[in-house]
Amino acid sequence: MELIDQIQERLDEVTSLIAGAAAKAGRSPSDITLVTVSKTHSPETLTAAVEAGVELFGESKVQEAKAKIPLMPGHLHWHFIGHLQKNKIRAALPLFELFHSVDSLELAEQMNRIAAEEGLHPRVLLQVNVAGESSKFGFSPDQLKARMESVLSLDRLQIEGVMTIPPLAPTAEESRPHFVALRKLRDELSADFEVPLPHLSMGMSHDFVVAVEEGATLVRVGTRILGERRARKK
Ligand SMILES: *Cc1c(COP(=O)(O)O)cnc(C)c1O
Repeated sequence: MELIDQIQERLDEVTSLIAGAAAKAGRSPSDITLVTVSKTHSPETLTAAVEAGVELFGESKVQEAKAKIPLMPGHLHWHFIGHLQKNKIRAALPLFELFHSVDSLELAEQMNRIAAEEGLHPRVLLQVNVAGESSKFGFSPDQLKARMESVLSLDRLQIEGVMTIPPLAPTAEESRPHFVALRKLRDELSADFEVPLPHLSMGMSHDFVVAVEEGATLVRVGTRILGERRARKK
């Protein structure tokens, strides 16, 4: 089968699974945005995805995105989903419409400062390490509650919600409590700080159905649409 047909088939499947999960939860499928995660994939693969109807991609490395984005049609949308190094902020700001993964107050402060210099107002989600894994980036729930006031005072950043990557688990069901915890934390922050935090970015190839059932507004799906990733060159 041609790559484009393969991608089309997988994309249709993911889209209908999202619609099914939304219906089950009494939600409208139009409230859920699919981010096709294209990290490590070639411009050729991305072009096939565009032909299959993808318009929004997620990338996790600034250098890679900076090389790839100019090779692709200008009507596409790009989100940043990886750990953003402070020395890459300036290069990243003009490339991405939404940053899913602002994972510390220091990073938020630096983004705010550089955004002011560049005349930008980036849209941002705060990454939460809901399970408290030491290997993962992100605010712990308690840290975020303690730092939210400071984050919200950064006037260049548009804080639109939260994101999480739950621990890798053999079944999707095991992600559910982490998705529920993120949604509850969002509800609490939104009430306590009187800010709308509409976005919940949660769910990847293996658990996006459960994420949609639990309220995800953005799901980040790579492998399930574009196929296996090539190993990154070290
Ligand atoms: C790679 C990645 C994804 C997509 O993972 P798949 O399992 O291929 O769907 C989603 N979110 C983040 C933050 C990622 O780094």
